[in-house]
Amino acid sequence: MIELSNIEKRFGTTTVLSSVDLVMAEGSVTALIGPSGAGKSTLLRCINLLEQPTSGTVRLGEASVTFEPGKRVPAAEILALRRQTGMVFQNFQLFPHRNAVDNVMEGLVTVLGWPRERAKARAMELLEKVGMAEKAEAWPSTLSGGQQQRVAIARALAPSPRILLCDEPTSALDPELSDEVVEVLGQLAREGTTMVMATHDLRLALRTAGEVVVVDGGHVIEKGPSRQIFTDPQRERTKRFVTTLT
Ligand code: ADP
Ligand code: MG
Repeated sequence: MIELSNIEKRFGTTTVLSSVDLVMAEGSVTALIGPSGAGKSTLLRCINLLEQPTSGTVRLGEASVTFEPGKRVPAAEILALRRQTGMVFQNFQLFPHRNAVDNVMEGLVTVLGWPRERAKARAMELLEKVGMAEKAEAWPSTLSGGQQQRVAIARALAPSPRILLCDEPTSALDPELSDEVVEVLGQLAREGTTMVMATHDLRLALRTAGEVVVVDGGHVIEKGPSRQIFTDPQRERTKRFVTTLT
């Protein structure tokens, strides 16, 4: 479902990702772990092309784009890839001046041109799924962090992306509020949603991820089944990092 080949990302003269090769199967859940500044967010942003790799190939499903320094990629190709992904951010990023259901349906109406009624029905279905149907009319500012994040997950899922990307979806939440988000993401994982998430949350990783990719200094230093990475990591660096997770 996702294939990254020889991805490199530079900002000016700073290399933030290099030689990243990853394959993620349909229905798999991958946790990206690694210290702060390792390049996890940049890697997620290179998958959904919010950030364009300096070089390398990104393939999502059947669509693929190869980047080379100095080569301009047509916007339509970028869009075709971006449409396959939905993204959930650490700080939810709901539109503050729209209620929960409007947040979820907004993109369907403005980007995809759905009639409002159909978009609203879809949005309600998704709010139901994340346990937020009763709060459909609520303003983001009146919702807890966990509730806001559940609305954000519903919003990311609204256009039926084939891949859900999450950037530290629980790290802005108190432990009791992160539980409800872990629960929702765990449910999506069980249903076979293809997901890639950067996280420091060991509970979230253990509950959802089959695969773990360890990023350090812009390199993938280790990858494997989550059970193995968490119980028997091969690299000294991974061992030390894994013990810092809570
Ligand atoms: P992580 O998510 O693992 O904490 P990031 O992907 O956010 O790491 O950042 C990796 C490195 O890339 C950091 O050193 C960061 O300062 C740098 N970086 C990220 N975005 C930019 C940018 N737009 N311009 C310059 N440097 C950036
Ligand atoms: Mg980050």
